[in-house]
Amino acid sequence: MSRSKSPSGIEIWRRHLVPVGATHHAAEEIAQQIQGLIIAQDLPEGLRLPAERDLAEMCATSRPTVSQAIRILVVRGLVESRRGSGAYVMRRPESTLAASMNLILGLNAESVEHLANLRLWLEESGVHQAIAHATDADLAAGEAALARLRDSAGTTASWMSADTQFHSTLVRASKNPYLASIFEGVHTTLINYEYRQWIASGTTPGWLGRGQASALTSLHEPILRALAERDVEAGRLAVIHHHHAMADHLAASERAEARSRVSR
Ligand SMILES: [Zn+2]
Repeated sequence: MSRSKSPSGIEIWRRHLVPVGATHHAAEEIAQQIQGLIIAQDLPEGLRLPAERDLAEMCATSRPTVSQAIRILVVRGLVESRRGSGAYVMRRPESTLAASMNLILGLNAESVEHLANLRLWLEESGVHQAIAHATDADLAAGEAALARLRDSAGTTASWMSADTQFHSTLVRASKNPYLASIFEGVHTTLINYEYRQWIASGTTPGWLGRGQASALTSLHEPILRALAERDVEAGRLAVIHHHHAMADHLAASERAEARSRVSR
């Protein structure tokens, strides 16, 4: 991983980012600029983004606006947020991203349920195959992702990156790159929709609070354990349990949001 703190590292950003106006689309404009830069300059995975205050200065905007832009990029899976360390280029955008972005425009409460079911079936298949094909290296990557997940409760951006990485790592262990790619596309589209409130406000939902770390870990740990123990039935049940628990969390968030809209 290159931890770019050198002046040349920040130069790329300084040279290419342009000030945005004070419109309410400013965060989206900044996100678009950074996304474009990642593609056009072929920026490597693991490259560190400038600090938020530097980005705010380069784009002539406020830090909250930059924070919002980073949240947009985190849910798109383009930027990874590491707790206490900053934001990094997570992976290069692929064509699946464009498909996700088109798909999401048509999402609503009803269709999102279809997509959530599709995510469940893809993950079930992925974990089933991974139980047959996972290597020791895959299991070690799963352990590392789980450790990050454990450390990320209470910090939505870090948690989302760690969660995406955990599930992707396990499905990639199926060794079917098409399954992995489709799973990641569906997963990314879903979280774009599910976390839209967080993108807008930056408020961490209650179920993701720091006190929930062990509950969240116990939702993920059994999936990895089933892989390590090559237990197909335990893997299937753990994936289904995770799916239902997340659906409950998100339904609770939606209700809370609806309530706050009424009282506003
Ligand atoms: Zn998860």
